Amino acid sequence: MKFRSDIFWRSARGNCPDCAKPIVLNATKPWYQRLVNIPAVCASCGMTLRRKEGFFLGAMVWNYGLTAFGLLPLILLATTLGWLSHAHAIETAVVVIFIVPPFIHALSWRLWIGTYYAFLPDQLPSSGRRLDD
Ligand SMILES: [Zn+2]
Repeated sequence: MKFRSDIFWRSARGNCPDCAKPIVLNATKPWYQRLVNIPAVCASCGMTLRRKEGFFLGAMVWNYGLTAFGLLPLILLATTLGWLSHAHAIETAVVVIFIVPPFIHALSWRLWIGTYYAFLPDQLPSSGRRLDD
């Protein structure tokens, strides 16, 4: 198994992992829905971006990982350096764990799609997989 970093970075930047065209967000939806949603299919090639039940678990792992291992250590560091009291650190951490995940949902989803297809490029529709799965 070889990791295809080109597919990963293509998806992480917001492009379709298969056709590399930008993933077009529905401009008719409010800004906050465009921030947290990713379209069900690629508008250019028709590739299913939101696959069946269970596929979202990978996006949850990315979301949790970015929040828990990306942001919470910064709060710990600020506490260690004396910039935040322990009480303020706890308050900040609680706010972060409730506010940040919805706003990085689309990013987490793109990272998950990129991870999945970077490890399994033969699953891409251009490699012969059905478009409706
Ligand atoms: Zn596409």
